[in-house]
Amino acid sequence: MNREQHRFPPDGGLSRPDSSTGVRCILCGSSRIKTLCRSSDLRGVARGTFSLGQCVGCHLTVLTPLPHGFDPETYGAQYYTHQRLDVAALTEYLRKITSTWRAQVLHDWLGYTHLATATRPSRIVALLWYVRNRRSIPRYHGDGRILDVGCGNGDTLFFYRGLGWDAYGVDPDPEACAVCRTQGLKVVQGEIFDAGFPAGFFDIVRMHHVLEHVRDPIGTLSEIRRVLKKNGLLILTVPNIDGIGFAMFKKYWIGLDIPRHLFFYSPATLRRIVEKAGFSCVRLVHLRSAGLLRNSLSLLATHRQILSPALNNTMVGTSLSVALAILGQAIGRGDTIEATFVPRS
Ligand SMILES: [Zn+2]
Repeated sequence: MNREQHRFPPDGGLSRPDSSTGVRCILCGSSRIKTLCRSSDLRGVARGTFSLGQCVGCHLTVLTPLPHGFDPETYGAQYYTHQRLDVAALTEYLRKITSTWRAQVLHDWLGYTHLATATRPSRIVALLWYVRNRRSIPRYHGDGRILDVGCGNGDTLFFYRGLGWDAYGVDPDPEACAVCRTQGLKVVQGEIFDAGFPAGFFDIVRMHHVLEHVRDPIGTLSEIRRVLKKNGLLILTVPNIDGIGFAMFKKYWIGLDIPRHLFFYSPATLRRIVEKAGFSCVRLVHLRSAGLLRNSLSLLATHRQILSPALNNTMVGTSLSVALAILGQAIGRGDTIEATFVPRS
């Protein structure tokens, strides 16, 4: 597949809705693009002003101008993937899971046959823990391999390795990769194309809050399709631009994170773009994202001074965020969506 043909050109042309420049949406091919909003980097790291252009045909939303590639300058030293791994906390968390009654739940319900303990939890306790954790702990496939695309500082790789997975990561950020290597984690610096993994190598590929950062989503997803086993799973989590948060907060919605996020997905556009790369969707859920709404409220308060920081730090802000998050999830407009895809045969 020619990766270039799926890209918006760097200037986007997206501020010209009736553009006759030949700019085409990478998803549906339409050249009718409307501007949703304009913003600078509200974290104050990157310079310049950016627009969000939305395709009139399919509603795929894109940042313009798009950067030419990964630019560490737009992330800054404080970005969360640059932080050192809290090895002590991660090790303690793993110990709690692998050497307590929780190991028996993993053994009985999620295929972790190498884990077991003498202590069995009650059925109710086991069920409650399973329901709460089943999304973050994938079903084990014997000597399975898992790939975390955009692995950041490797906290998830550390966790999966501790559960018995042969865990690999890729990340374009040299600082994040350096943090991974301090723990002996298998990481490739660059895009997934740079790793050169064999075809059909992985049981699971995970992209957790990463696809929105990717400059060439269809090319990246097609490469994931190549390296996944035929019965493998792709698990994606992205902010939802059709969620309640963007509708309320607009450019102050933390899910935009301009200019680090390049594409902004809804359930429909996420499904469509991943399916275009050769997958079928088997599950899509709206998550409750109170933290994301809470941070949006803080950002709005900081920049517009509508709410004082003092008020913003009270239970009012937190309660409002939790209530909105519950509402968003209930009406199918959660601020985060998680979806599982399988390769289409
Ligand atoms: Zn489109």
